[in-house]
Amino acid sequence: MIDIDKIRADFPILKEKVNGKPLVYLDNAATSQKPQVVIDSIVNYYSTINANIHRGVHTLSQVATDAYEEARVKLQHHFNAQNSYEIILTAGTTHSINIVATGFTSLLKKGDEIIVSTLEHHSNIVPWQMLCERTGAILKVIPINHEGELLMDSYDELLTNKTKLVFVNHVSNALGTINPIKEIIDKAHAVGAAVLIDGAQSCPHIKPDVQALDVDFYVASAHKLCGPTGVGILYGKEEWLNKLPPYQGGGEMIKQVTFEKTTYAGLPHKFEAGTPNIAGGIAFGVAIDYMNEIGFENIAAYENELLTYATKKLLQIEGLKIYGTAKQKTAVISFNIGDIHPFDIGSIIDKLGIAVRTGHHCAQPIMAFYNIPGTVRASFAFYNTFDEIDALYDALVRAQMMLS
Ligand code: PMP
Repeated sequence: MIDIDKIRADFPILKEKVNGKPLVYLDNAATSQKPQVVIDSIVNYYSTINANIHRGVHTLSQVATDAYEEARVKLQHHFNAQNSYEIILTAGTTHSINIVATGFTSLLKKGDEIIVSTLEHHSNIVPWQMLCERTGAILKVIPINHEGELLMDSYDELLTNKTKLVFVNHVSNALGTINPIKEIIDKAHAVGAAVLIDGAQSCPHIKPDVQALDVDFYVASAHKLCGPTGVGILYGKEEWLNKLPPYQGGGEMIKQVTFEKTTYAGLPHKFEAGTPNIAGGIAFGVAIDYMNEIGFENIAAYENELLTYATKKLLQIEGLKIYGTAKQKTAVISFNIGDIHPFDIGSIIDKLGIAVRTGHHCAQPIMAFYNIPGTVRASFAFYNTFDEIDALYDALVRAQMMLS
């Protein structure tokens, strides 16, 4: 069960006013808000234990190193990785994907095939296109139906013994569709392909089990999970992380450096060149603890109630059309009202304190599929309320009146 008053009290920003109105924050798919424990963790780090990690013999450096490595272990347990060194701390999902895409340059050859889906965020498209340009590999795309679901029959047809990699998001940021990733992974493995799952949008709602999924790579960003920006994870199976070359060279990622030859450190440090976001990594661990305390099943059940209520309510608005009506979806509603430009709706309701996203949501192929320039996207989190959905409804009715 969600104790909504208690939860909302944990988030200082939810007491803020925007444009003189109480903030109604419905842009959670872009980034989540931060509970006080996460904010405190960052302040405490810089106030009491700030030091560089993995380098010093002095006490503060060891305390900071222990705190950072404890966060890695928390993440290992959360994602159910077999080993903590399979959790690489990165700057976020985009960084994690680029580590893998760049690493595969030396592992692919001309004519190899890569499969992505129409539902991807640009950060799970562009790095693979760049990889294809470098290697001569071919990018193939799983199409979708009108509800915004992947056409799994087409996926079956795309898979061949030339398929080397499959990249799919667990949940679409633009539509909220939850993809059948276990089936996608199993089918890819049957033809010998590796799979990367972009968990940026699923992790705030679903606790993934990377061993049960048998996934090769799983990536996510802390900032969508009540943690800070500039930190994320790359989970990779040990055998794959050993096969991939390092992404960046620098301090921290070496065993020995001479001008003749440098040898690299083992996992996870091979992929962690330079001083990382130490405070961010520690706060990521605190955010994961916070969300686990509430419970991901409770979060998903409550958000599902919000989604059902909001869908019903918004559909009462004349001319409102929802894009993405998959049977399995998270609490995201992407919509347009008649032919009013999404930006105009977003700007007017912002004046009423309501924060939504407008535009193509870094998923232009989805907008092209529906033949629209963009949508208004309301995305809900476990700290949102039914009253906030009513406020969204009222604001949209007002915007429609002003703009029609
Ligand atoms: N993939 C998906 C599905 C996303 O929603 C996002 C963020 N909107 C990203 C990747 C990129 O995440 P980040 O900007 O944190 O690197």
